[in-house]
Amino acid sequence: MSQRFQSLEAYVPGEQPADMEYIKLNTNEAPYPPSPGVIAAINESEIRKLFLYPNPDGTRLINKLAEFYHVGADNVIIGNGSDELLAFAFLAFCDGGRGVCFPDITYGFYPVYAELYDVPYEQIPLMDDLSINLSDYCGVNKNIIIANPNAPTGIALPLGDIEAIIKSNPEFVVLVDEAYVDFGAESAIPLTRKYDNLLVMHTYSKARSMAGARLAYAIGPEPLIGDLRKMKYSFNPYNVNRLTQIAGEVALQENEYYVKMREKIVKTRESTVSRLSEMGFLMTHSCANFIFAKLPGVSGYELYSALKARGILVRHFSKPRIADYVRITIGTDEQMDRLCNEIALIRTR
Ligand SMILES: *Cc1c(COP(=O)(O)O)cnc(C)c1O
Repeated sequence: MSQRFQSLEAYVPGEQPADMEYIKLNTNEAPYPPSPGVIAAINESEIRKLFLYPNPDGTRLINKLAEFYHVGADNVIIGNGSDELLAFAFLAFCDGGRGVCFPDITYGFYPVYAELYDVPYEQIPLMDDLSINLSDYCGVNKNIIIANPNAPTGIALPLGDIEAIIKSNPEFVVLVDEAYVDFGAESAIPLTRKYDNLLVMHTYSKARSMAGARLAYAIGPEPLIGDLRKMKYSFNPYNVNRLTQIAGEVALQENEYYVKMREKIVKTRESTVSRLSEMGFLMTHSCANFIFAKLPGVSGYELYSALKARGILVRHFSKPRIADYVRITIGTDEQMDRLCNEIALIRTR
């Protein structure tokens, strides 16, 4: 392997063990299938067309996304998941002279890409309550990535704070990763018409039940989107396959289904939060489809392992400041009942 990658620490996705059937609450997927039209659209006639390459621009999907978000088609790019669009953003906007910053506790892929692309990066510590201190991001003179709501804390910044960050760093790109925005935060997409340094990224993986299809999009001013497009055409022009493009279009047409689904997930989140706090858990205020919880007296790893032994997967991060916590994806009501019942047994053991 090349010398420069020998010490690279790759991203570690949530586990998918095959030894038994688990209730999977460890990667923030939706617990419900895609909408009926999406399922019907991936039919034999579309599968028969797989001998053809997909449309490299994703023109039809991009036009639908542009209409949906009231922006121009030149303001949208699609990618094979946000992870790919993030890679394009690192390539396009960051280098030795233009570093990047993000919180010390956030999506684990940001530092991996910074290392992979050899970009200087600063991890800005969250405050003790795991929230972002706004002034830490004002006038930093670096590119900035903020997940809003943040992961794995679920804590959201108000749009006014995001706007203050954008305004105070006019010469640098502010990338707002809104993977979870539809579960209870305010989107910065409307601000992309006002600021030329803002990029907003959304994924179909969480709030649109399509983690397995690999689809995401970025919205921003035309010059920034053009730069991302240049990276895409230098890396993988056919990055989103035919079936996924179709699924993405139909999902937008059936937005009502997803709105209802998210309302249901948020309701399940709130009832789970109540039950866990009755059992003595401490949690951050989640605006996402997961909760970040700790039980005083029980380590995060203990809780993770005890749940795994009982057939429930949650995510544990062995990082110093958050080792006491587990991140629990919100599943169906039935799955969360099972979770709470198993936790009650673990506590009284
Ligand atoms: C899940 C997640 C992503 C990755 O989404 P994909 O579109 O599935 O690649 C990006 N950012 C955050 C904060 C996430 O939680």
